Amino acid sequence: MYWLKSCPKCHGDLCLEQDHYGAFQTCLQCGYLRELIDRSGNPVPAVQPLPIKESPGRLGVPRLPVAA
Ligand SMILES: [Zn+2]
Repeated sequence: MYWLKSCPKCHGDLCLEQDHYGAFQTCLQCGYLRELIDRSGNPVPAVQPLPIKESPGRLGVPRLPVAA
């Protein structure tokens, strides 16, 4: 599972990994690591993905016919 642009340190992409200590999120770009289980065994909520802002892009622009 991936959280794109959700790293609190560099805004890179986090992925879910697991070892024998438990699950954690790690950043693919900077190596930021966040455990999802704290030392007392309680789950820690995963970093939520940043809201994606919709850019108008080309969708709002009507296409003009192309002369051949
Ligand atoms: Zn990062």
